[in-house]
Amino acid sequence: MRNCFPVVLLCSAAIAGCANDSGAPSVTLEETPLTPVKTAVPTASESETSSDRGAEMQEEVRTEYNKLTEFEEYVLVGKGTERAFVGEYTDNEEAGTYVCRRCNAPLYRSDQKFHSSCGWPSFDDEIEDAVTKHVDLDGFRTEIVCSHCGGHLGHVFEGEGFTQKNVRHCVNSVSMVFIPKGEKVPPTIRLAKDADSDAQGE
Ligand SMILES: [Zn+2]
Repeated sequence: MRNCFPVVLLCSAAIAGCANDSGAPSVTLEETPLTPVKTAVPTASESETSSDRGAEMQEEVRTEYNKLTEFEEYVLVGKGTERAFVGEYTDNEEAGTYVCRRCNAPLYRSDQKFHSSCGWPSFDDEIEDAVTKHVDLDGFRTEIVCSHCGGHLGHVFEGEGFTQKNVRHCVNSVSMVFIPKGEKVPPTIRLAKDADSDAQGE
């Protein structure tokens, strides 16, 4: 057997393509036409997955707003003011969105923020309809509140000449939460009781 081996090899080399050992008809290799097979066709446009687009306000119905600490409650609900130069966003220059700490409604964009050196985060404009202005209880300043939940933000001043818009929203850091660009802005909280009354009104 041992000797046969090289012979077989030889034979097979010699008759390659003719017949195999058993004498059976040679296997005709069907010429597989090289038809292109459809593979991995690039699909869905990548832009569809972009979460950064369209800061449309998404809502979520809940029974209550975000839990606040005692100090956050003092500022947002009790209309208090945090001390100057201690707020976490006073010098924040990152790109992103500032949302209401109580209800998550988007309030300001980072491109509306500027350095005023007044000790609190300063913006010269707000996201459309996000902020409501009215005369403060002191009778002369203009208080700004979150249009969605009424949470106290701070005060707005005009005519100081800081920027071209000549407006300064002086906002307590503690009234806001900063969402860096690229991160998902949380849905705005809508209280269930408001959602119910709206539904009944229709
Ligand atoms: Zn709010």
